[in-house]
Amino acid sequence: MRQILATISLLTLGFLVMAASKDAAKDPASDTAEKLRNEVLVNGHAYSDLVELVKIGGRLSGSQNAALAVEWGKHKMESYGFDNVWLQPVTVPKWERGPLEQAMAILKKHKYNLRVTALGNSVGTPAGGVRAQVIEVHGLDEVTALGDQVKGKIIFYNRPMDPSKVNTFEAYGGGSDQRFAGPARAAKFGAVAVLVRSLTLRLDDHPHTGATHYDSDGTKIPAAALSTNDAERLSALLKKEPDLTVRLELSAKQLGTVASFNVIGELTGRDKPDEYVLVGGHLDSWDLAQGAQDDGAGIVQSIEALRAIRALGLHPRRSLRTVLFMSEEMGGLGGVEYAKQAKEKGEKHLAALESDNGGFTPLGFSVQGSDSALEHLRAWGKYLVPAHADLAIKGHGETDIEPLGDLGVTLFSFVPDSQRYFDYHHAETDTIEAVNPRELQLGASAMSVLAWLLAEQGL
Ligand SMILES: [Zn+2]
Repeated sequence: MRQILATISLLTLGFLVMAASKDAAKDPASDTAEKLRNEVLVNGHAYSDLVELVKIGGRLSGSQNAALAVEWGKHKMESYGFDNVWLQPVTVPKWERGPLEQAMAILKKHKYNLRVTALGNSVGTPAGGVRAQVIEVHGLDEVTALGDQVKGKIIFYNRPMDPSKVNTFEAYGGGSDQRFAGPARAAKFGAVAVLVRSLTLRLDDHPHTGATHYDSDGTKIPAAALSTNDAERLSALLKKEPDLTVRLELSAKQLGTVASFNVIGELTGRDKPDEYVLVGGHLDSWDLAQGAQDDGAGIVQSIEALRAIRALGLHPRRSLRTVLFMSEEMGGLGGVEYAKQAKEKGEKHLAALESDNGGFTPLGFSVQGSDSALEHLRAWGKYLVPAHADLAIKGHGETDIEPLGDLGVTLFSFVPDSQRYFDYHHAETDTIEAVNPRELQLGASAMSVLAWLLAEQGL
């Protein structure tokens, strides 16, 4: 009997030891990550917030709609009980597309309408448009090599995005110099206008806009994006009839600068309230559509990341800020102003996380910073796996947080699947229909978990 009792006690002890070690293995961070994920997936507001935001319409920097979006963002974060919500003034350019943008290829026996849209910052054409012969090129150096031959012509940049790049942002980066710097280069050699093949891998009928940048001391010539289908067509027509002309008419104009705002919402840290972890996206968009993917998705994910933390009553050690940056598309001015103010006030930012790659199925995050920051991100992969967001790679911070990176702040970028982003990017197709609610929420859940880990555990 004594032996039986002794055996039972030993067994009990064994169970106790097993239970204790099981308790020790239970990771409270894992529990919190699961709660945050469930809050976003079950009670989430990301998609319904996006539906509200896009009702405003395109939010071109400097426009009335952008001002309405500022009010919306402020009210939204106040309604979720953020501790402080305020507006940070930032001066932005005002540019208008105007009602007219059309182009036509004129051949000996035929005329073809070409689908175009003015590039952001572009000047307009004189009334009646400009008409000239066209030179097709595939890069800026070709324009320089042509030299005097460019004079009086329309330069047509037609280098496609490189389909061999699996990451479409790499393909975009490889083609975007044509849009950003192509018009200035053509103007330098006397061109009268520029057409740029739209930056999308898809062959479609939607011209994709985007900012161009003139040399401050150079001539400004009208510049438009051409749909990829019409870029293919114009190229084929030029092979048949090299001296065809194109008539381009744009009513775009630059209208100086106006006052606008970044919108900032904060959850105060319990232990280190003067250290900040920033989560953000850009509130402005192009005017051709609702800017649902670019960057409405990043805006609502950034608000949702902190809303979920607040809704669960969590109080992380450091302060968290959601920042809705203004004027990313027109020069990244909101980001520059935010970093300038942070530097002047001596604010310590531990990290900044931006979502500006669309609200598609998450893959994970990239980090711009030390190797040890990357190690932290890798170690947190176990909390991000359930949302399929455990990719942890080195990368570059997005435009709005880049100026903070220059101050030494560690930057994180949300990395979703990139295959469909450029179907919609800067085009009339970037509407709410381009966004899948489930994909958007999964991304928001991963951002909420990473924001909380950064604020709670630090780097
Ligand atoms: Zn964007």
